[in-house]
Amino acid sequence: MTCVHQPPCPAAEAIDHDAAHVIASHPEQGWSILCNGVVLFEDTGEILPDGHAVPPAGRALAPTHHLTGA
Ligand SMILES: [Zn+2]
Repeated sequence: MTCVHQPPCPAAEAIDHDAAHVIASHPEQGWSILCNGVVLFEDTGEILPDGHAVPPAGRALAPTHHLTGA
């Protein structure tokens, strides 16, 4: 997986790896893939390119705003 962005996106191993560009989005399936190879799920769970899974509970709690204004 090669990043072609300038400046380069954070590597999959970087703490801010979820700041990388989304290169493929599958909202109907609830996940996106970033240019550093990280698979990002809509519940904030992640799977890293090395197969390591990051559960949503392992991340900082973020307020969800998408339910407002429905
Ligand atoms: Zn990139």
